[in-house]
Amino acid sequence: MQHIKAIRRKALRMILSAGRDSLPNEFGTALRAQGGVITELILVPGTLSGERSALMRLHMLPIDLTIVGSAHTHPSGSCMPSEADLDFFSHFGYVHIIACHPFTERDWACYNIRGERMPLEVV
Ligand SMILES: [Zn+2]
Repeated sequence: MQHIKAIRRKALRMILSAGRDSLPNEFGTALRAQGGVITELILVPGTLSGERSALMRLHMLPIDLTIVGSAHTHPSGSCMPSEADLDFFSHFGYVHIIACHPFTERDWACYNIRGERMPLEVV
């Protein structure tokens, strides 16, 4: 398990713009990290359709230790995890980003496996 401390700005911007492009639906993706820094989005077939259950297909990913968690978007203005999000967080990865409307570079939050906020530096 990597100690995740940062996300590349480019990866964060991809999440935010995918959130905008997916409106009025959600967008979901897995996250890859190297050396403790989230570098890449790993798109899973079936997660782009923007259904409310966008995250669920992430369980289809092959075991890959570089995949550290997920990011998904909320079309609403709240970055708080839902009950379903908290359940998902406890079963997949250990770093989870929620981005929310209007998807500026301040409209996101990062959570650990227990759904508690955790700091994440943008680099
Ligand atoms: Zn959610």
